[in-house]
Order: sequence, then structure tokens, then C-alpha cells
Amino acid sequence: MSRETVTLWPELREYMLSVSLREVPVLRELREETSGIIGSNMQVSPEQGQLLHFLVRLIGGRRTLEVGTFTGYSALWTALALPEDGSLTACDVSSEWTGVAERYWRKAGVNDRMRLILGPASNTLSALLESGETGSFDFAFIDADKENYGDYYEKCLLLLRQGGLMALDNVFRHGKVIDMDAHDPGTVAMRELNARIAADERVDLSMIPLGDGLTLVRRR
Ligand code: CA
Repeated sequence: MSRETVTLWPELREYMLSVSLREVPVLRELREETSGIIGSNMQVSPEQGQLLHFLVRLIGGRRTLEVGTFTGYSALWTALALPEDGSLTACDVSSEWTGVAERYWRKAGVNDRMRLILGPASNTLSALLESGETGSFDFAFIDADKENYGDYYEKCLLLLRQGGLMALDNVFRHGKVIDMDAHDPGTVAMRELNARIAADERVDLSMIPLGDGLTLVRRR
């Protein structure tokens, strides 16, 4: 046992990946194509993708939700964890980026599991709630505009079944959450939400120092 978390340095991370990462070729191809485009830092790391995959398998996830799909890398990791009749509802605003996603989803043979909905996610999540999908999802992943995380959190919590799991990315904002000179709306919103989740009696939680910080929330 250790009382401290080891800060990963590059060589140790390389080792970790070398003995644990199972990134199939289509995932690696998508990650490499995305690394060449603007905004590529919005893509989750391969070890985060594999953790989402692992968690979805662990909970027997069938119906999953993603807020912020970008070029579809985390969605592909998630979709590959689903049974044949599983589904992933992907919310994004960009047809350009999700066009890349759809190309790889088809290549990986999972496109028929994907329900891509373009438009502001707050509206999409409200529409899902209004159409009777409350409590029907096993898993939700939030990785979109940080200013609206609070709204996404509340709506996704309603969409999750009891015992369902939510993961929220970038909860450290690369350390800006503890920089009291940082007042940009995304950081302010993340600080507020991190504190709110910590006190939220509706959920169990664990904040994991993986990537830029990943909070896991289980709906009680
Ligand atoms: Ca992210």
C-alpha cells in the first residue's frame, strides 16, 4: 500500500502502456489520424479509452450515452465493449469531426450500434428525457464544453438507471482548478461541479488521476 499516488513520468507511462494497452488496429488508426488535426488534444488517451471499455464491460452496459464525441475515439472504445444489440447515443455539434468518427465506426463494424445526434447537447439530453428515456442508460461519458458540464451532469444522472455509471473527463483542467488566478468560465464551472458532486448524496464517486482527471459517478 502507498499513501501517495505516483505521478506518471513519460517512461513509466510507456511501461504502463506496454504491459496493459490492448488498442486494436482500427482504434490506433483513428487516434493517429486525429492527432494530425486541430483540437486533437480533445481526444482521450488510449489508457482512458481502455478504462471506459473495461468499465462498460464490468457493468454489463448495453445502452450508453456520450456527450462530446469529436472524432469518435472514446465512442469506438465504448462501442467495442457492447453486446451486438447494444447502442451508443453520441451527442456532438460538429458534422465534420463526427464524419471522421462515422468512417471509423463503419470500418470497425459497429456503426449500426451508433445513434449520432448533432446539435447542442443540452437540447439533445432534454429531448431524450422528454421522449421517455429517463433511467434507461447504463453508462454516460461526458467530455464536451466545460461551461455546460453542470447541466450535462444533471441530465445524464436522470438518464442513468439506478446503479448506472457516469464518467466525466478533464476534471483537473490541467491543474487550473487549483490556480486561484484562473477565472475562465470552464475552470469556474469545473470547480463548482467537482464540489457539487463531492457533496451529492445521490451518487457514489471516485476521482481518478488518469489523463487530465476522470471522475466516476455511480447513481445510487
Ligand atoms: Ca477530454
